[in-house]
Amino acid sequence: MAAGRTVDDLVAWETIRTLVGFDTTSRESNLALIDWVAGRLRALGIDSTFTFDDDRRKANLFATLPAQDGNVATGGIVLSGHTDVVPVDGQPWTTDPFVATVVGERVQGRGVTDMKSFSATALALLPEFLRRGLAQPLHIALSYDEEIGCIGVERLIADLVARGVKPQGCIVGEPTGMRIIVAHKGKKSWRCRVRGHEAHSSLTPAGVNAVEIGCALVGYLTGRARAFRESGRRDPAYDVPYTTVHTGVIRGGTALNIVARDCTFDFEIRHLPADDPDAFFRDVEAHARGFVDAMHAIAPETYIAFDLLSTMPGFETEPGSVVATLGRDCSGRHDVGKVSFGTEASRYHQAAMPAIVCGPGEVAQAHQPDEWVSIAQLAACEDFMRRLADRICCA
Ligand SMILES: [Zn+2]
Repeated sequence: MAAGRTVDDLVAWETIRTLVGFDTTSRESNLALIDWVAGRLRALGIDSTFTFDDDRRKANLFATLPAQDGNVATGGIVLSGHTDVVPVDGQPWTTDPFVATVVGERVQGRGVTDMKSFSATALALLPEFLRRGLAQPLHIALSYDEEIGCIGVERLIADLVARGVKPQGCIVGEPTGMRIIVAHKGKKSWRCRVRGHEAHSSLTPAGVNAVEIGCALVGYLTGRARAFRESGRRDPAYDVPYTTVHTGVIRGGTALNIVARDCTFDFEIRHLPADDPDAFFRDVEAHARGFVDAMHAIAPETYIAFDLLSTMPGFETEPGSVVATLGRDCSGRHDVGKVSFGTEASRYHQAAMPAIVCGPGEVAQAHQPDEWVSIAQLAACEDFMRRLADRICCA
C-alpha cells in the first residue's frame, strides 16, 4: 500500500511541484496556472473551456476526456479542484511556501493539502485514463476564488448547464484524509456595523459607544453558540456534531479618550442542515433592535446594520448514490463521513450533480504555516485514481 513510498514513486510529483510553484493566492490572477494546465491538456489532444471573472484576471477551466464512443456531454464523473490558496502573509513558514519541499515523510508548501495535490494527481494520471480508453466521459474542473466564497465555480457550473453537459456526479478533492465525505454543514456569514456617536470620553453620557454595543452583540452570539453546543440538535456523524457560531473579526474605536463612533464585526454560523441559519439571524437582528431606542435617544443618526457576506448551503448525498458508491469502491473503505467545513460540493449538488468530497491531507493542516501533506496520503490519492480508472475505463 502507501507506506514506504517516496515522492519519486509518485506519478504526480512533478505536477504537484509545478502547481504549487504558481502563486495563486486568491487576490492574485490564476491565469498562469490555468494556461499551463490548458497547454498540458492540449498536448493530450483535449480542449479546455474557460469561464472568466469580470476583469478576466481569473478563469475556471473545464475539460472533458471523451468516452470511447465519443460521448462528452452525458454522464461521467467530474474531478473538481480549486486553484486558489489562502495567503501566507504574516505566517512563520520554515520553507518557501511556493516551493513544494520534501520534509521527512511530508511534502510542505502552500496548497499541498488545500488542494493542489488532488488536482495535480488527477492531471498526472490523465494519460493513463486516455490510454486505457474511457467507458464514460471524465471531466476536469478547476475553479478560482473558492477560498473567498466558492465564487468562481458558480460560473463554471452555469456554463455546464448552458452547454447541456450533464455529469452523473462529482468528486471534490478537498482534504479529507481520503475518506469519503457525503455531507457538510451549511454556512452563512454577516458583517455587523454599529454606528454610535462620538464624544469626549469624560462625557460618556453624551456619546453612544459603538464598541460597547458591538461587544454586547458579540456576547449575545457567544451565548447562542453555547446554547447550540449544550442543548442544540446533534448529528454524531460530523466531526463537530452541532451547529457552531463564531465571531472572527472585530474593529472599533480610534482613541481611548473618544467614545467610539464605529464598531464592525464579522460572524458566521456553520449549521447542521436541519438548523435554520435565517431563523438564527432573525434572532440576532431582534436582539440588536433592543439597543436602538436608547441609541436614538442620544443621537438620531446612530444605527446597527447587517450585511450578508456569504452563503454556503449544506449538502447531503445519498450514501447509496452512484458517486458515493464509486467513491467507496475507489477508496477501499466502506464508511462515509460528514464534515463541518464548506466546499464546492454543495454547488454541484444544487445543480443536480451529486457530489462527494475526497482528497489527500487533512483540513487541520490547511491554511496553516508550513501546510503539509504526508507522502502516504499522496500515494493513497494515486491509488484512488487508479481504482477509478479500473472502474470507468474499458481496459
Ligand atoms: Zn480548499
